[in-house]
Amino acid sequence: MISNGEKGESMANTSGKLDKFIMKRLNQRLVFSIILRGGSVSRQQIAAQSRMSQMSVGRIIEELEKLGIVAEENGDEPDAGPGRRAKRLRVSSTVFLCVGVEMHRDGINVGIINLHGRVLRQIQHRKDLSACPPGEVITLIGTLIGRILSENADLSVEPFVGIACPGLIADGVIRFSSQLKWKNVEILPALQKQTGIRNIFIENEVKARAVAEDLFGAGRDYERSIVLSIGSGVGSAAVFCHELYRGKLNMAGEIGHICVSPGGNMCECGRRGCLQTYIADWAILREARTVREDITMQGLLEANANGEPWAINLMNRVLEYVSIAISILANTYAPDVIILCGRLIEEYSTLRDLILKNYKREISDYVLSSFDLKASDFDSDGTLVGAGTLAAYRLLDEIL
Ligand SMILES: [Zn+2]
Repeated sequence: MISNGEKGESMANTSGKLDKFIMKRLNQRLVFSIILRGGSVSRQQIAAQSRMSQMSVGRIIEELEKLGIVAEENGDEPDAGPGRRAKRLRVSSTVFLCVGVEMHRDGINVGIINLHGRVLRQIQHRKDLSACPPGEVITLIGTLIGRILSENADLSVEPFVGIACPGLIADGVIRFSSQLKWKNVEILPALQKQTGIRNIFIENEVKARAVAEDLFGAGRDYERSIVLSIGSGVGSAAVFCHELYRGKLNMAGEIGHICVSPGGNMCECGRRGCLQTYIADWAILREARTVREDITMQGLLEANANGEPWAINLMNRVLEYVSIAISILANTYAPDVIILCGRLIEEYSTLRDLILKNYKREISDYVLSSFDLKASDFDSDGTLVGAGTLAAYRLLDEIL
């Protein structure tokens, strides 16, 4: 029988070991995250940023190298002192290969993503998802995941899959998606069953995009960044000190359904005057087609550039409401940067440039001087990168 004294001592030992174990993991993660954010960094830079000694940094790097998640680059570090290992370090390009899935109203994109923010291969499947029952969409996603995996033998370990979906996503369930017209749909169990993959995760598309922007995109040099996505829906996501701000039930940032005009345009959510009814692609075209049936977004932008009064009138209203959206975000969050993305920004450079030129209209001078406005420098694959990166983070949780 263990006496009280012995038991107390043994618990102290256990807790000491646990503290050491936790400290070791935290330090490993800190060093890993400095390498991940830096892309390519020297041991000296890591020591300076982590405030650890070069000896501790060297030991942790050895551990990370043994795990195969960090590797030395070819090329010397010019300011390394005599006898010092002079190679720069980067995250291994092969360990964190994950699958990203992007669901949007017009289809599904599936890609293989690495932790350098690159899409290595991609399959794009066009289909109007809002016209399909959820079961059919789930089967299609499973088939596309199976196809991209079978075509990529370099993914030898059990894959991790991240899905980005428009709408309110909480606890792995799509609570409400006005774009897909879905309510309380649980897609993960069926997908896990179909594909045989355990590690599948789902996240709101704009939040996934914000992770990609923070790590690899226009937000990488800022502490507080907000992503504003304008496409077939309107949404935002906030990243503070490189952490997503989720809010209760992952609902933070859902600005598309803020009422900006009581009694205004009818929204697909069934309410009137929602922000997205003034700036989402379908809403702009709905308005434009009351004047010219079958006009496209490109046609509208050309009519605006040619000085047609009705098009100028409509585009002015669009720019006004985009400025209001930016003002809401700047005033609410006081960020360092607001990053524009989404299909309307990525596919129509004329519209993107009009927004960059006119966004100040509804914002007070005091707030205007406090943040930068940038367009995303990803192509249309930024959300896919975010989805894959979230899956890679889960994989990292298993390793470190
Ligand atoms: Zn609405």
